[in-house]
Amino acid sequence: MTQIQEQYKVPLLDVREIGRVKDVRRGIARIKGLQTCAYGQLVQFSAGMHGLVMGFDEKDVMATIFGDENGVSVGDEVLSYEAQASIPVGEGFLGRVISSLGDPLDGRGPVTVSGRSAIFREAPGIMEREPVMQQMPTGVKIIDLAIPVGRGQRELIIGDRQTGKTSICVDAIINQKNTGVVCIYCWIGGPQAALQRIINSLNERGAIEHTVIVAAAVGVSAAEQYLAPYSAAALGEYFMSRGRDVLVVFDDLTKHAWVYRQMSLLLERASGREAYPGDIFYLHSQLLERAGRMTSGHGGGSMTFLPVVETMQGDITGYIQTNLISITDGQIYISAPLFHEGFKPAIDLGLSVSRIGSRVQGPGIRRVSSGLRLEYSQYREMLRMTKLRTNLSEEALARLRRGEVLQELFKQSNFAPVSLEEQMVLFHLYQRNLLQGVSPQHMRRFIDNFFRFLTEYDMTVTTRIKETQDIAPETGEAVEKAFAVFFRDIRRNSQEAAA
Ligand code: ATP
Ligand code: MG
Repeated sequence: MTQIQEQYKVPLLDVREIGRVKDVRRGIARIKGLQTCAYGQLVQFSAGMHGLVMGFDEKDVMATIFGDENGVSVGDEVLSYEAQASIPVGEGFLGRVISSLGDPLDGRGPVTVSGRSAIFREAPGIMEREPVMQQMPTGVKIIDLAIPVGRGQRELIIGDRQTGKTSICVDAIINQKNTGVVCIYCWIGGPQAALQRIINSLNERGAIEHTVIVAAAVGVSAAEQYLAPYSAAALGEYFMSRGRDVLVVFDDLTKHAWVYRQMSLLLERASGREAYPGDIFYLHSQLLERAGRMTSGHGGGSMTFLPVVETMQGDITGYIQTNLISITDGQIYISAPLFHEGFKPAIDLGLSVSRIGSRVQGPGIRRVSSGLRLEYSQYREMLRMTKLRTNLSEEALARLRRGEVLQELFKQSNFAPVSLEEQMVLFHLYQRNLLQGVSPQHMRRFIDNFFRFLTEYDMTVTTRIKETQDIAPETGEAVEKAFAVFFRDIRRNSQEAAA
């Protein structure tokens, strides 16, 4: 045994059995001679690459190959050396790009590892969990105000191609800068170039230091793409067990389902609806159940999941989509028509929901967000019915104007998350009915600059809002005073420009 361990350079691991490759086909090796291995276990081929045990028949074991299958030939030895597949973990992974087996892909040398974590761990039981009570601010105003996400929640991001799904997740990661939250971004089955753009955006905004990127782009083996979200969850569990709050993005699970379907068909499993294997629901529920908030006895950390799923032509009744909707605690529905209309982020409030609800919001954000959802839906409805705007009553016009302001406030560009303090200030003014008078050409200028102006005008106000996470009556008055000054300055400037 020692000889073999030296030959294969696996000195720390306990080799249990040696089998032989019987045949290799489309990324799947049939192995004989492994008597005691289990489903979901890792094996190693003599060429050095790994395989994951995915199926059995009377005599043989079927394993999917990580990496290039051309490296594995018939007759090669296969080592079975560990009970369950695991991934190296540690603080050293922060800021790194890794494969689904934990190997660094960013060319920045080896990662300092502090242990290993099981890739397919069972979800924590009910006694280890605590209710989700604290908000995980995403920096996307419409989400934080109307569909708040809690720490430990699973919120699905669902929408057509190219409608801003990834952008919302990246905003949420950028927004965790300097908050102590660890982010894990898991890229499954997408193009390498798009991932590189995301990494660049995170880098430019200083958001890579608190993030780990688990990358399984479209070119890598099916086994790696299949494993990626589980590895990301295992890495998240390491940080969670140390009391940290973790945010994991799975971008996206449609591709994960495709890759699993492909593997199942190659393993000659019976296929069911839309040719997916029967256990596809189990596959995703087993993954998403791992999110949650732990009691203080179990580390007190939390893991929030933002799984992404793609729809075709806005159809949310597909097999994978309905499965995921039923497993998660709510969904953020992104609408292609809204996106093309220019309402970005194109979140459709009518079809979006957070089943955890406003109980996770702090007092200030809850107060300023009350009624927004209903008001916005009514505005959209009214807009549809009054397209021509003839013979509208004063009251209807006022309500339309208020809706327009709300719509402007909800818009924001990507990679520019907005803090909860800023959201409170803007929507406080909205709730006090002070924004209807602002002309449309001044609106954007106001939204983009007012919070900065307020901080410069009276720093104590913004600090107080940040510390208390609320706007007390006297703070509210100070905000309104600054608002008046801001517009006095704007008006003076535009008069000077005109003169
Ligand atoms: P895919 O289906 O390719 O995964 P996606 O739904 O993840 O796409 P994104 O890649 O996030 O969408 O965004 C698509 C395009 O829309 C990008 O060019 C992005 O810059 C732009 N975009 C997304 N959100 C916004 C926004 N809030 N404001 C302006 N542009 C945006
Ligand atoms: Mg995307």
